[in-house]
Amino acid sequence: MDALPQADGRAGLAALEAQVARDLALIAYPEPEWVPPRRSASGERVLDVLVVGAGQGGLVTLFALRRDRITNILAIDRKPEGMEGPWRDFARMRTLRSWKTVTGPDLDIPSLTFQSWFEAQWGARAFAALDKIAKDTWADYLAWYRRVLDLPVRNGVELVALAPQPEGLAATLLEAGRERKLLARKLVLATGIETPGRWWMPDFVAALPRHLRAHTAEPIDFAALAGRHVAVLGAGASAFDNAATALEHGARVTLCCRRPALQRVQPYKQISFAGFFRGFPHLPDAQRWRWMNHLLSIREAFPRETWERTTRHAAFTLRTGTPWTGARAEGDRVVIETPAGPLVADFVICGTGFEMDVSALPALAEHAPLIATWADRYTPPPGEENPRLGRFPYLSQSFAFTERVPGTAPWLADVHLFTFGATVSFGPSGSSINAMKFAATRLAQAIAADLFAADAEAHYQALLAYDTPEFTLPGEA
Ligand SMILES: Cc1cc2nc3c(=O)[nH]c(=O)nc-3n(C[C@H](O)[C@H](O)[C@H](O)COP(=O)(O)OP(=O)(O)OC[C@H]3O[C@@H](n4cnc5c(N)ncnc54)[C@H](O)[C@@H]3O)c2cc1C
Repeated sequence: MDALPQADGRAGLAALEAQVARDLALIAYPEPEWVPPRRSASGERVLDVLVVGAGQGGLVTLFALRRDRITNILAIDRKPEGMEGPWRDFARMRTLRSWKTVTGPDLDIPSLTFQSWFEAQWGARAFAALDKIAKDTWADYLAWYRRVLDLPVRNGVELVALAPQPEGLAATLLEAGRERKLLARKLVLATGIETPGRWWMPDFVAALPRHLRAHTAEPIDFAALAGRHVAVLGAGASAFDNAATALEHGARVTLCCRRPALQRVQPYKQISFAGFFRGFPHLPDAQRWRWMNHLLSIREAFPRETWERTTRHAAFTLRTGTPWTGARAEGDRVVIETPAGPLVADFVICGTGFEMDVSALPALAEHAPLIATWADRYTPPPGEENPRLGRFPYLSQSFAFTERVPGTAPWLADVHLFTFGATVSFGPSGSSINAMKFAATRLAQAIAADLFAADAEAHYQALLAYDTPEFTLPGEA
């Protein structure tokens, strides 16, 4: 990269940070904080919004709320600062798959965009020369975003349980081995793309000894795979990223997928337009189901660079139309059954994604029977059945869970889901950079509306009591 000297980069960033402050001041209207403080019976201030997860989704939620002057908020993340999300963890691609001009966390403030941050340090020429955003650079940008906006985040804190109480939602938090309770009026789950659900692999692979298999979302000792034969299952981006990483560490890799041909068309590009993002959540259930059944069945294509990174290795073999039907350990090797005969490997990696299950998030597990899924609310016509879609939660227009049986858990209206789990209800929304600026704004607006409605009488009384004259009459003090 055509990098500027470090000192210029620091000066550029300082100037940008001044610009951010000015931009925020210019759009500060309306300025008053307006959410009346609530106190618990013991006199503690109840948090207005607790955001669980401080990845990109949690951070943008904090910012969107604060722009509406909802400031009594906090995000928690169980990971250490800087390690949130997949970027410095199990994301094994070199660059983001989304293109470099996609904006999101900035919420349309130019000085907060990735491009402004990047150009401030390395210049416009370097940005023009950039192909896609390196994943670590994206993580650095998110760290800067959190710092420059001074977003309230506590790391090393995990939500482990949730219980409704008359004063709000009681969140049980685990911090440094100790549990404590925190009361919040609203909870936003920005807990990651696989939630509320779990990373999934076929049962017969999960049953193998752990030293012989891994999911792409797990830590893998790639150095130990040098000179070994690795079998990868799946045809998505993560399967290919893990195959490429194994190849780069000197492994021989066979990647198998059920599909007869790879998905090379990226359907998400076709729906990345404002009308879709704004209008999709308002479509009738039948239409939302039809669209998402199509989208989530054909799945995403991976980008050209992922393909080239993998296929340039002579030690790579692609076997499409080759599902795995079973697997067993034989000594220190794995024998995989396929319709074309057995495949023997030293290690197995599953790039098989995740499956939705509201009970998989420990804090929700005991409440899962109360939560409506799409299967509870909608019966698709013949030909459109899809049990995978049916497991997605059926969300309200404010991203909140809904009750399976009306009247049994009204408090679910205060638990908002901002993850991939929102996709059947909203289309790409949570856990999506492309949809972020639309979805985060919609979420914050809904929370603002709910908080206002809950206190509408107090706000009305405040209006009646309001008696500040615009000017004084002669003789008045
Ligand atoms: C490998 C990979 C590559 C991706 N690449 C791209 C890409 O190139 N372009 C794109 O647009 N999208 C991409 N995505 C999709 C999406 O952008 C990412 O998943 C992104 O990280 C989603 O952000 P998030 O904030 O929803 O979740 P995350 O970034 O995963 O953050 C969730 C956070 O919640 C925390 N958390 C979870 N449970 C708890 C709890 N109980 N208590 C406290 N904290 C908790 C976690 O520690 C985590 O830090 C990718 C996803 C993956 C998995």
